[in-house]
Amino acid sequence: VPELPEVETLRRELAQKLKGKTIARVKVWAPKTVRPLTARVFGNRLHGKKITTVERRAKLLIIKLEDETYVLIHLKMTGQLIFEPIKGKLVIGGHPQPGGEIDLPNKFTRLALYFTDGSALYFNDMRRFGWVRSRQSLDEEPFLKKVGLEPLTDRFTEKKLTEFLGRYPKRKIKPLLLDQSLIAGLGNIYVDEALFEARIRPERISGEITKIENGKLHKAIKRILKLSVQKGGTSFRDYKRSDGRAGGFVPHLKVYGRAGEPCKKCRRAIEKTTVVGRGTHFCSDCQK
Ligand SMILES: [Zn+2]
Repeated sequence: VPELPEVETLRRELAQKLKGKTIARVKVWAPKTVRPLTARVFGNRLHGKKITTVERRAKLLIIKLEDETYVLIHLKMTGQLIFEPIKGKLVIGGHPQPGGEIDLPNKFTRLALYFTDGSALYFNDMRRFGWVRSRQSLDEEPFLKKVGLEPLTDRFTEKKLTEFLGRYPKRKIKPLLLDQSLIAGLGNIYVDEALFEARIRPERISGEITKIENGKLHKAIKRILKLSVQKGGTSFRDYKRSDGRAGGFVPHLKVYGRAGEPCKKCRRAIEKTTVVGRGTHFCSDCQK
């Protein structure tokens, strides 16, 4: 499942490719994907409109059209966006399909935007949890009402993190950091990495995190996310950049996906456990 750096990487690449393109035609194969609108209303609303920019909020991609209409895309578990610059030449972003090569549209294609210059954007989604919504104002979108702070903005301060921990002093630190209504876009990979860098065990109780640890954790979250965005995110089997390249953050991972391998700081084997149902990686020597 892509987290903030992966969706941000996709956003940057899509912004470059889609800016200035005019939607000639919309084809919807799975009407459920565009709910609450019908496929017809969705298509009519987008038809003939030019894309001005692609933004992001949490893990939501926001394609902005010239008349303040928005197309919101959430990839969820298996969604992928495939840009076709010229017929037959594909670049994939999000979750690649098993097998690699694909024909488009195929049985996983939920919708396509065809542009006036002959290029196209396909939304494929094997498990159908992803969605594509059109809104005439971002205030209409319920998803945006419940998302928390963007961790890479100045609004996410050390004081804010202290406030979140103080609000839920009995919760474990890992699930608190994963709570999308507090901090938006942090997932399993980056929470494990940030907790390692701050030397805090994932199952620690929030109320027992010291002021110094809080400061380290805040700094770690920012540093790791920023570096991962710079490197194009973390690629695993379920995520590829929109040009098919792997994200460059993998060599920077210190604990995630490294169970049994030696800790890069102390050489002790990285351990894997479960914290509130999530696979969790940590070093029992470096993290207290
Ligand atoms: Zn260690």
